[in-house]
Amino acid sequence: MTTISNDSVTRHQAYFDGAWHTTPRSFEVIHPGTLQPIGSVADCTEGDARRAIDAAELALKDWRKVNPYKRGQILRRWHDLMFEHKEQLARLMTLEMGKPITETRGEVHYAASFIEWCAEEASRIGGERVPSRFDHKRGFTSSEPVGIVYAVTPWNFPAGMITRKAAPALAAGCVMILKPAEQSPMTALYLAELWLQAGGPANTLQVVPTNDAPAFSAPFMEDERVRKLTFTGSTAVGRLLYGQAAKTIKRVSLELGGHAPFLVFEDADLECAAREVMASKFRNAGQTCISTNRVYVQRSVAAEFTAILTRLTGDLVLGDPLQDGTGVGPVVEQAGLDKVRAQVEDALARGAKATVGGTLKEGLYFHPTVLTDVHPDSLILREETFGPVAPVVVFDTEDEALALANASEYGLAAYAYTRDLSRAFRVAEALEYGIVGINDGGPSAAAPQMPFGGMKNSGVGREGGHWGLDEYLETKYISMGL
Ligand code: NAD
Repeated sequence: MTTISNDSVTRHQAYFDGAWHTTPRSFEVIHPGTLQPIGSVADCTEGDARRAIDAAELALKDWRKVNPYKRGQILRRWHDLMFEHKEQLARLMTLEMGKPITETRGEVHYAASFIEWCAEEASRIGGERVPSRFDHKRGFTSSEPVGIVYAVTPWNFPAGMITRKAAPALAAGCVMILKPAEQSPMTALYLAELWLQAGGPANTLQVVPTNDAPAFSAPFMEDERVRKLTFTGSTAVGRLLYGQAAKTIKRVSLELGGHAPFLVFEDADLECAAREVMASKFRNAGQTCISTNRVYVQRSVAAEFTAILTRLTGDLVLGDPLQDGTGVGPVVEQAGLDKVRAQVEDALARGAKATVGGTLKEGLYFHPTVLTDVHPDSLILREETFGPVAPVVVFDTEDEALALANASEYGLAAYAYTRDLSRAFRVAEALEYGIVGINDGGPSAAAPQMPFGGMKNSGVGREGGHWGLDEYLETKYISMGL
């Protein structure tokens, strides 16, 4: 059985109501690389949820009044502690959800960058003076914390999806109760430990794992005191929670699924374009919301481009995610693998060809795959994939490419490769997506101040930068008569 070095008792508990708790029930966390358990964590109940809300109410009273410079200092220490614990955090993430260790090291930087930016920004949250049409009145705005936030996060970025929410919430003076994904609760608990070590006051960030998310979430969705829901995960669950949040008119941020198209025009640098498809497609074994899901390539360069993509994909090392040289690890769990296999089998049955891969290696390890001649009705062109498979489709004209790209319920990220400046603008403006990478397959890593979020069924709101901070602030208008 794989064991975690630098393990701590608290990483198996839950942090709420001012203390680390062991619960009567617990549940196992499985390493996808070996399918062996790496430990078990507390399984919190609805009763625990209610205690966490009561504790959050008290914590909010003080935290919202803490001087923003002081809030910034605590966030800064949290950021620094993440770097002191970088290797342990990276290893823990890899053990929990199977992402290659070189990527989880990168995730520590990515996750910490949101804390650093928000630490600096805390002291810049203020208000405005707004002119009145009456001489005897003065108008002001004041930005105030939304209040108690319930956060629900996925497993695919066990640290990044937490700090992208918690850092702006805490900087704004909100308090957060976080329900991490069942697959990766230990990273969340580790971050809670570091927050407390950094000087974060009790109950400002409570982390409550559970193996029964629907039942556990109910008290939060019904409670008037919980003023905001922030969720990252699938569109199906986001839609459900959006409806539940309506009862108490909570503020809502939803970061949901994607089905990113990648357009390669005939004037593109094909080698560059193929390398960016690789980075966007095979990072985290294709399990990111902005992963390329559909590659559209112009007919005149389709054969050359597919040959490059096939060669590069064949060079990827599929294996133990804890090893430094590994490029692609396992997918997170059996259900994810089943979906990938079903999509590949469906595409092959409809006439597609695998130029590389197409099969399972062992366990949860699926060979990185490129498919060509993919029929338009194939599942893989309609559903989010979340696996290491790149379907390549040929197009003739720019209009056709845009129509194919936009024919999706999702609108999170899209990419296009071209050296024609006018086309670059036309395409960027026509793509119905919240994030567009022109000659860039990795726009989200650029900086923590970039807005991240989707249109259509990919979500509501933005994370990152001042957009992400605004999600945790209410604007109060104060009118003063002289
Ligand atoms: P998921 O929706 O199954 O789970 C996400 C979270 O919701 C988990 O914490 C889970 O426990 C919880 N949950 C599930 N059912 C619930 C319910 N009925 N009530 C309350 N909570 C519930 O998603 P996942 O498989 O963990 O993550 C993958 C999905 O997340 C993909 O669709 C991906 O595109 C999306 N995602 C989006 C972004 C983004 O920024 N847009 C980022 C990462 C992942």
